[in-house]
Amino acid sequence: MFPPKPGRSIGIGVIGGSGLYEIPGLKVLEEVKIYTPYGEPSDKVIIGELEGRRIAFLPRHGRGHRIPPHRVNYRANIWALKSLGVKWIIAFSAVGSLRWDYKPGDFVVPDQFIDMTKGVRPFTFFEGGVVAHVSMADPFCEHLRRIILEAAKSVEGLAIHDRGTYICIEGPRFSTRAESRVWKEVFKADIIGMTLVPEINLACEAETCYATVAMVTDYDVWAEKPVTAEEVIKTMEENTVKAKKLLPEIIKRIPEEPDPEMCSCCRSLETALM
Ligand SMILES: [Zn+2]
Repeated sequence: MFPPKPGRSIGIGVIGGSGLYEIPGLKVLEEVKIYTPYGEPSDKVIIGELEGRRIAFLPRHGRGHRIPPHRVNYRANIWALKSLGVKWIIAFSAVGSLRWDYKPGDFVVPDQFIDMTKGVRPFTFFEGGVVAHVSMADPFCEHLRRIILEAAKSVEGLAIHDRGTYICIEGPRFSTRAESRVWKEVFKADIIGMTLVPEINLACEAETCYATVAMVTDYDVWAEKPVTAEEVIKTMEENTVKAKKLLPEIIKRIPEEPDPEMCSCCRSLETALM
């Protein structure tokens, strides 16, 4: 049953995180409601043109931010994008920082993650019948990571960090101070969020190239530096402006087909332990 046969050939998928619910400059062609074996995706998928390329845009939390991180139907979202023919997924997400030099307003392109979700989110397409263990040693697409980092050079005033370990917690609550210190000092994670897992696992099972643009909104509670809600909202708004400038620069640089020399994301099942 998996992966679904692409019904179309829209090569690039964009998953919008907190703050990113629409893309300026996107010439909207249609909005499609997609039915999947796992139920409904977070919203209708917007199909449009940006920089002369067809893209499929899906806001992870739905328009108007209706769906909390632990209730997002990640399987339906990835299935929906895959069914449109998506080979590349650029995922935007708001994160907290676990180190002083990754400042609010900075972006990070993580290269590793730690999964601290609680196993309650459906996290695989392989529930039995066919068993597959995909490799997650280097979970993000290195090719797409490099494209994002190159694109960021064209966005004035954007500070971007070329690596980082993203720790994904269950949410929707934030960490306690004790937890936050464990993530920082014991686990040595760099940024923290609630939505990377299982989105990335599923993208890998679906053999798509996946990379995250993590947008730092605040220092997590380890810093004992009280942040007001206004400060966080202001940073999020500024991050959204930068994300909207960055996206077209990324799209311009994405090749039609993933290069097998650069990554093996689109063949992850070939190398999986079946
Ligand atoms: Zn790749």
